[in-house]
Amino acid sequence: MEITFYGVRGSIPTSSDKTIKYGGHTPCLFAEVDNKILIFDAGTGIRKLGSKLFNDKRDIYLFFSHYHWDHIQGFPFFKPAYQCGRKIYLLSAYLPAKNEKAVLDQMVDPHFPVPGDQIQAKVRVMPMDNNRLTLGEIKISTCALNHSGGGTAYKVKTEQGSFAYVTDNELHPPGEVTTEWSEWVDFLQGIDLLIHDAMYLDKELKHIHGWGHSLVSQVLQLAKEAKVANVVLFHHDPDRTDNQLDNILLDSKKWMAENYSDCKVTLAKEGDVYQILESGVKLKLNLNQ
Ligand SMILES: [Zn+2]
Ligand SMILES: [Zn+2]
Repeated sequence: MEITFYGVRGSIPTSSDKTIKYGGHTPCLFAEVDNKILIFDAGTGIRKLGSKLFNDKRDIYLFFSHYHWDHIQGFPFFKPAYQCGRKIYLLSAYLPAKNEKAVLDQMVDPHFPVPGDQIQAKVRVMPMDNNRLTLGEIKISTCALNHSGGGTAYKVKTEQGSFAYVTDNELHPPGEVTTEWSEWVDFLQGIDLLIHDAMYLDKELKHIHGWGHSLVSQVLQLAKEAKVANVVLFHHDPDRTDNQLDNILLDSKKWMAENYSDCKVTLAKEGDVYQILESGVKLKLNLNQ
């Protein structure tokens, strides 16, 4: 199975010579698993992915972490949504929306010229029984996020390996906790590739505690305790420059080498393609280079 990052930035897109290396698009992950197309979130990164999928007629399974704007705002520019006969299934759990409106209602006058109910593709919500789903050989399970308004973390498993997509999640929130630390450790135990929100640094905690995002240090500790083989830090702050992210990567690698050398740390970067094979995970190439 293969995973490609089309958007890695949190909150709002950014375009600048200081963010070009890691990329400025909001969250979108493309996973080709068992010959099926799975997409996680429809941030602005999904526009480019839509062009790639234009001539690929397979059904699209579009999973949402939640419906905050940075995770849906690319959908009106997703070309497959305008293709007659195309089937797009919307999936989520732990969220109140039981219909397509959560995604399509952003396409409404005066905000967008094409109303959501007039797109040509068949866009339908696919329910997840008991917040789980089996697609052929693929087994998908979920966990509830610690985030304002709720949301879904996904774990995807096949015979080949496993990955988890956990974004907009505060591992140690103040006040009420939806999913406890120990439950995250259980849910993610032994996963091959963990993609987790690591938006902030320890020194920023005072200002951002309760915002629904995690610290880099917390995600590294989680990867260690859950015995994760690879962790990818995701949902970068839009103000974080490439130089700052390079330094975060260096510090994270150092910490991991000293504390749990079985885990490899990388930062999510637009265009990076990861392969999950029975023999392990490898960074195959970057589409933009
Ligand atoms: Zn977000
Ligand atoms: Zn959010």
